Amino acid sequence: MAFGTDRQMYDVDLTCAKCGAHISQLPFQPSGDRPVYCSDCNRAFRQSRMGGQGGGFSRGPRAPRQMYSVNLTCASCGTAITELPFQPSGDKPVYCRSCLQARRNSMAA
Ligand SMILES: [Zn+2]
Ligand SMILES: [Zn+2]
Repeated sequence: MAFGTDRQMYDVDLTCAKCGAHISQLPFQPSGDRPVYCSDCNRAFRQSRMGGQGGGFSRGPRAPRQMYSVNLTCASCGTAITELPFQPSGDKPVYCRSCLQARRNSMAA
């Protein structure tokens, strides 16, 4: 699939659903019931989707993990938990660090 051969193009006579530009060729057969976008809008759309999700998750220095202050007890051993790396949903049991590690180890084993 990774060969550099020319993609098959379909001759169409459409307008971009976003900017109204004329589209004369598409790399796929238009189904007719979906909006079609010009290559510029397609690229912009793809970029905004990649950059918008996760907020640059995969690049740059890793941000320090946010900790949430909580007042809970470990569902397994009863140890007090004052900080969590995630916001507790309230309907799931929460475990202290050592119990989490033990659970993770037992799952990996
Ligand atoms: Zn467009
Ligand atoms: Zn525990």
